[in-house]
Amino acid sequence: MNIVSNCPLCEQHSLHIIGQEEAQMLQCLNCGYVSTSKFIGTKEDNEEYKNLTEDMKRWSKEFNGRIWIPSMMTLPIGMLYPYDDEEGNMKWRFAEMVDIPKEEQENYSNGQGGFYETKYDVDNTKDYDEFFEGMLEINNRMKEEAENQNKPIDLKLPKLKKVD
Ligand SMILES: [Zn+2]
Repeated sequence: MNIVSNCPLCEQHSLHIIGQEEAQMLQCLNCGYVSTSKFIGTKEDNEEYKNLTEDMKRWSKEFNGRIWIPSMMTLPIGMLYPYDDEEGNMKWRFAEMVDIPKEEQENYSNGQGGFYETKYDVDNTKDYDEFFEGMLEINNRMKEEAENQNKPIDLKLPKLKKVD
């Protein structure tokens, strides 16, 4: 079940309501704020809120009897996440998923005896004022990637997770 409603924060018709009751998630694809059933209540009495990082606490908003926090979108092609700019205003940053060169993989232990082959490239990020701008970029890249998968296989290409 996926209903689209008006977002109480940015007032755009882009609030996606996924699931029901205990497992409900409200995700706005315009402003990037999200709330779940666990975030019903106020900052004073909500247990889940207490577990948030200091940044997340600062960025969170109370609205309609819920706490709303900015999304961290982790996708096979990269990650879109909030950060503070120099003036202390929350903005959005995209870090692409990149291959770790073979000779560097030994520095990226996965904690299970193996090594990661990909990482989020946080040294080369792209910044956006608005969440939806970052999402546009992600959508375009995912489209490109899907198109590339239909081309003859180039063995040098990284193994791509299937994007639906
Ligand atoms: Zn919104």
